[in-house]
Amino acid sequence: MTAADAKTKIIDRARTLGFDAVGFAQADEHLTEDYARFQAFIAAGKHGVMNYLAESAPARERVDTPLILDGAKTVISLARRYQRSPEDEAADPPLAKLVARYARGQDYHNHLRKKVRSLARFVRMLGEDVRARPLCDEEPLLERAWAARAGLGFVGKNGLLIVPGQGSMVLLAEVVTNLALPPDVPMTERCGSCTRCLDACPTQAFDAPFVLDPRKCIAYLTIEAPLVETSSEVGEHLFGCDDCQTVCPYNRAPVTRTNDAKPFRPLPVWSETTLEQLASGDEPLFAAKTKGSPLRRAGAVGLARSAQRVLRSRQS
Ligand code: SF4
Ligand code: SF4
Repeated sequence: MTAADAKTKIIDRARTLGFDAVGFAQADEHLTEDYARFQAFIAAGKHGVMNYLAESAPARERVDTPLILDGAKTVISLARRYQRSPEDEAADPPLAKLVARYARGQDYHNHLRKKVRSLARFVRMLGEDVRARPLCDEEPLLERAWAARAGLGFVGKNGLLIVPGQGSMVLLAEVVTNLALPPDVPMTERCGSCTRCLDACPTQAFDAPFVLDPRKCIAYLTIEAPLVETSSEVGEHLFGCDDCQTVCPYNRAPVTRTNDAKPFRPLPVWSETTLEQLASGDEPLFAAKTKGSPLRRAGAVGLARSAQRVLRSRQS
């Protein structure tokens, strides 16, 4: 089988598994420029309390090492869209609407990991001695940079990967393999003169187009560091924020039947939960309410702090 045939088979398989976009990048060419930007980000302390980013920084420059996959030749970059249609979203319970869209349903790692593992098994069967490592947030990886290099999309002024035809509400995963496959061509940036995301950000978290200071971002303030005091206007955001994506014209791409958004529908528990309950910080209640949900990451005290902020913002 030629490398081009193997690539076609992988694309077909990835589509069958439910991935909405697939791209290929040469793995043994290191991410020099992106890594330099990442180092500058860490040196400036913009990672805030996310110490794991600084600790694992050296591992993010390359993937062809024992840490990821010795002898890696290709990164297969995968995107799974989580955006739902406006009609579908309209029925979400009020509490779920205070939560970033990716986090309203079950923890996405569960179903995404199954798909990416299945694709890695398929790649291994494409030849003798083929090795393939599935990755879904397990290892430090500059996954947005790899996705851009793989031609999956381009990084917009909001700092997110935008997949034309699918938008930016996508989850990323990778299969890294020692199989050499024809790489795709990176896409040029297509924001043009648009600045909607920068203008829409409630906390002015962008230092410049493409340059986010996470310490000012509501996603950071409600998920990673909910206990950090902030003067920023967090408003009615309980967990995460979609504002810089909601306004992006690329997210007007219609949701199609091939986009399986069912796992991202709100968990039933959000219909029976109030902000006041979450604001109480009650540990057993938090454990029951966030079972299988990404909101567990904030912790009972952290989620309570965010719920209290929302309640205060409603009173003011
Ligand atoms: S997620 Fe919200 S707070 Fe963060 S940069 Fe985007 S609009 Fe600003
Ligand atoms: S809102 Fe405009 S500037 Fe921002 S990412 Fe989308 S297209 Fe680019």
